Amino acid sequence: MSAIILKNAEEIELMRESALIVSKTLGMLASEIKPGISTLELDVMAERFIRDHGAEPGFLGLYDFPNTLCMSPNAQVVHGIPNSDPLQEGDIISIDCGALKNGFYGDHAYTFAVGEIDPLTEKLLQITKESLYQGIDAFRAGNRIGDLGFAIQQHCEKEGYGVVRELVGHGLGKTMHEGPEVPNYGKRGRGKKFVDGMVLAIEPMINRGTHRIKQLKDGWTILTADGLPSAHFEHNVALVDGNPELLSTFHYIYEALGITSEEENAFRKHPLTA
Ligand code: MG
Ligand code: MG
Repeated sequence: MSAIILKNAEEIELMRESALIVSKTLGMLASEIKPGISTLELDVMAERFIRDHGAEPGFLGLYDFPNTLCMSPNAQVVHGIPNSDPLQEGDIISIDCGALKNGFYGDHAYTFAVGEIDPLTEKLLQITKESLYQGIDAFRAGNRIGDLGFAIQQHCEKEGYGVVRELVGHGLGKTMHEGPEVPNYGKRGRGKKFVDGMVLAIEPMINRGTHRIKQLKDGWTILTADGLPSAHFEHNVALVDGNPELLSTFHYIYEALGITSEEENAFRKHPLTA
């Protein structure tokens, strides 16, 4: 991974714009996800939506990835390739989406339930999302990378979940993957210190069982070694005046699903305007 590139206030606002295009894309998808629809159909909708918003799909062609969305159902952790298999009642589907606008990337992800899901998997989604906010809360001036990873790891491992080791969060900017690497595990007080102007993609990838993973022969799809489900939630966050400022939002997803949530309030100085 490349160097850490700090962003000024103007660049952070451009990055907010890119992140929010991804947020709105995920919100659009939230109302389309139901049993019977395929991940490829959703992928086509997402590409059109992103282009209609004056951006380009961030993943399409990146490292030769073939689609707009990474679509990872059930035991797939990340990097699943959209296909024409219909989603089924009881599935979960992790959707990771990127957008490029004004030269800056947005990159965020949400794991959706398809209809009713079993309570154990429901809990996995809840705990993984909570761990994302615990990680964000540790992204403060004076703290270090290890503090953030520790926060996520503690929250998930106390439930007996597996924290994926091989895949990590990252710095974000004019390239999709910049320094620093942001592991979802770590030791307090270790690693690089956080400073203003860092923009991170914080993204716990948490398995209901073992942390071990394997890769499909397609060269992309990562799945759990034991076949149990995996969840993935990702936000883009800037460090401003020493504190985390959310650039992405799940607001549009919650709006589509009729959910009210205050989970983001502590990490947003400016109210959402559009
Ligand atoms: Mg992502
Ligand atoms: Mg990412």
